[in-house]
Parts: sequence; structure tokens; C-alpha cells
Amino acid sequence: MVSDQLERRGIRDPRVLRCMASVPRELFVPGAAAFAYDDRALPIEAGQTISQPYIVARMTELLALDRGARVLEIGTGSGYQAAILACMGATVVSIERHAELAARARERLGQLGVSGVEVRVGDGSRGDVVGAPWDGIIVTAAAPSLPEALREQLAVGGRLVVPVGPRAQQDLVVVERRGEDEWTERSDGPVVFVPLVGEGGWQEGGSGAPGFGG
Ligand code: SAH
Repeated sequence: MVSDQLERRGIRDPRVLRCMASVPRELFVPGAAAFAYDDRALPIEAGQTISQPYIVARMTELLALDRGARVLEIGTGSGYQAAILACMGATVVSIERHAELAARARERLGQLGVSGVEVRVGDGSRGDVVGAPWDGIIVTAAAPSLPEALREQLAVGGRLVVPVGPRAQQDLVVVERRGEDEWTERSDGPVVFVPLVGEGGWQEGGSGAPGFGG
């Protein structure tokens, strides 16, 4: 997986490659362990998905984390991305709206002896102001538009990685806070994520309408 799917496609950060090699992905893929290292997203509980390995590696690389970085993840899912972030030396708060998924993720992280990850249940679409500023914010579900609230919660020098766009396909947007009032923004390419559902995301039910403003 590391050489075929990651290095060949341009993942360069040795720490990311090391973590992708060391965290056992099969433990995060319920009933699909045989496919755990396939080059694709896989189903997890509650109708959600664990991202393709390349995307997990790419998003981690884009965060450009220093050891000890404080990171907010929105969309815990299986807990795999959180385990990779912890392996990178980050302290992680990860928010998941499905209690069932949060519980399973906590269990898996506990089994693996991963420390430094706190999994919370709730709507993370507005981020977490109390824990801000964050050195990194990673949204692993698709937002209809760039969540302004999250930009504001970045530390200077911090980065936000978030899929933004319509339900069918999004742009992986990287926002860097360069100063108190200075942000840069670029797209790293097309991605497909399950929707971010909540106040700062899409409305529940799948009408196609964003959650805010109707
Ligand atoms: N990072 C995960 C994959 C996430 S799939 C992993 O490594 O396995 C996207 C997750 O985002 C789903 O579990 C979904 O329930 C969750 N989600 C969607 N909207 C959310 C919100 N507003 N707050 C918190 N979690 C949300």
C-alpha cells in the first residue's frame, strides 16, 4: 500500500509514510479486513465510509504538522485518520455526530493503545471555539461551502484541510492562516466525501440544500 498507492502518487513526507505503514488499517474496517489495504474507500457503520488510504495520507501531509501540534478532526468515523494524526505526534480532538461510531472509534483506539485522541459526540460543523486556536483542522466530510468559522479557529501558521463543493464531488481545499487577518487558500484537487451534516454543513435528509440560509 505504502509504495504502490502512496509513494508512487507523490506522498513524500517520511513521517506520513511511516505512520501509514505502522497503523493497522484492518482494525478500523469492520467486516472488510480482506479489503483493508485496497485502493478505495470502504463502508463503516452508520452508512459512512473510511477514506481511501491515499486521501488519508494526502490530507495528513497537507496539514504539515509539527510534533505536539493540536489538531481538531471533524468526522471521526472509524478513528483511522485520528490514529494517523496521533502517530504524527499530534494531540487530537475528534468530533463525530454518530454516537455509535464514536464509541467504536474509542474502543479501537483504546485497543491499539493510541494516546492523545479525545473522541467527542456532537455536531462539529462549527468547529470547537473553546479549544481554539488549532494548529490544524481536518474535516473528513464534505462541506457545501468553505466553513468561515473554522478559518477563524486556526492558529497563525495553522492549516485547515476541508473538502468543499456539491454532494457528487468536491475540491480538497487547503487554507493557511498567515497572520491575524491573512489567509491563503488553494485547491489540492478533486475528492469525494460523505456529506458534513449539521449547522455549518448540509441539512439532514439529503434534499441537496445546504444547512444554512435554506
Ligand atoms: N475520518 C474518518 C472517515 C470519516 S467519514 C475515518 O478515518 O474513518 C465522515 C464522518 O463524518 C462520518 O462518520 C460522519 O458521521 C461524520 N460527520 C458528518 N457530519 C458531521 C458533523 N457535523 N459533525 C461531526 N461528524 C460529522
